[in-house]
Amino acid sequence: MNKLLIETYKNTFHAKPSKYFMAPCRVNLIGEHTDYNKGLALPAAISKFIHAAVGKRDDRKICLKSLNKLDVITADLDDIKNKPEQSWGNYPLGIFATLIKRGYNLPFGLNIIYSSNVPIASGLSSSAALLDLTAFIASKMYGIPMKNEEIAMLAHQSETEFNGLQCGIMDEFAIALGKRNKCIILDCKDNSFSYEDISFKDLSLVVIVSNVRRNLVHSPYNQRVEECREGLSRIKKHYNIDSLSDVKVTDLPEVRRIVGNETLFKRIKHVVTENQRVRDFVKASKEGDTSMMCKLLNESHESLKTDYEVTGEYLDYIHDISLRAGALAERMTGAGFGGSSIALIKNEDFETFKESVFREYYKKYKIRPLIFLADICDGLIEKDL
Ligand code: ADP
Ligand code: MG
Repeated sequence: MNKLLIETYKNTFHAKPSKYFMAPCRVNLIGEHTDYNKGLALPAAISKFIHAAVGKRDDRKICLKSLNKLDVITADLDDIKNKPEQSWGNYPLGIFATLIKRGYNLPFGLNIIYSSNVPIASGLSSSAALLDLTAFIASKMYGIPMKNEEIAMLAHQSETEFNGLQCGIMDEFAIALGKRNKCIILDCKDNSFSYEDISFKDLSLVVIVSNVRRNLVHSPYNQRVEECREGLSRIKKHYNIDSLSDVKVTDLPEVRRIVGNETLFKRIKHVVTENQRVRDFVKASKEGDTSMMCKLLNESHESLKTDYEVTGEYLDYIHDISLRAGALAERMTGAGFGGSSIALIKNEDFETFKESVFREYYKKYKIRPLIFLADICDGLIEKDL
């Protein structure tokens, strides 16, 4: 529990908070840019957290503060709109707006103060952590019973409809469904999921945050979503399919001819081969074949770089220097365009790996990367005060 957060709550609202909640962030092991194509992903929650201290108000205002930001955001439950001046507050406010849109009666306002050690806008899904946490807070404070997957769906509806990012469900699911030492196999065709023990044997999972800031709503993210939509509509004229994830690897030569546009084809090829890599990765893990797992992770990065074109200079450089520093596998994780990467390294190599990647990256860009061992953890947490 974060004492500064509770103190700030008391100083800001002149009352004690009544509840305390936490949500982790996530990495995706493999299966990138597949979620909005109804494909497969393999994420896991990791133990960097956003915390929130919460209390009821006597009026109908939602008052939001974040120790990571300067401004206090206030809105009235009867008039919540997305406004640029509400900046980050548009994420949590969207949850309340979405609940109201769904017909729920929210009878009182709330004070919420957040504090987070999740790197923000870095590909580890600080936005979904904030959204899932706020959806969890709303369900508990207003007594609306929701399963974790329903919390994820509410947060996803809010991020797409209220915040305007046409994202898939992976981030929200990964955080809401997180389970200690388990990865989540998510099938975005029907949002079904199961837990998998991914065996890394003598390898450690490392996260490398590039610390290159980016804004997804204004990045080519929505453009990729559009390209996939256009590719699908061209294929649909010839194949009876519902999504790009219904295309098989063996269909690709024919699909290339039908689509008739090399850029669109490359996007489709990434999605189709990436889904296959998720299946192959889970199979390799079950067989204890870590060298195959590493090969697939490296192929995933290459596909995201060459075919999907979302890695960008910084993540490509981190990929190269990580492999040179002894990583057996390295790939970007999350949406890309800057953001973060994951690597698999021998357990005993962490300190030398970290030192080497930090040095090389700083030498080139004068930016300090954040490098840490991933600890796969549980999802949403409610704590007694
Ligand atoms: P990512 O989800 O990869 O971290 P996004 O661009 O999707 O990156 O989301 C980042 C945005 O989420 C921030 O710009 C901010 O608006 C919001 N956000 C995340 N964490 C916090 C926080 N602790 N306090 C306030 N806003 C936050
Ligand atoms: Mg995000």
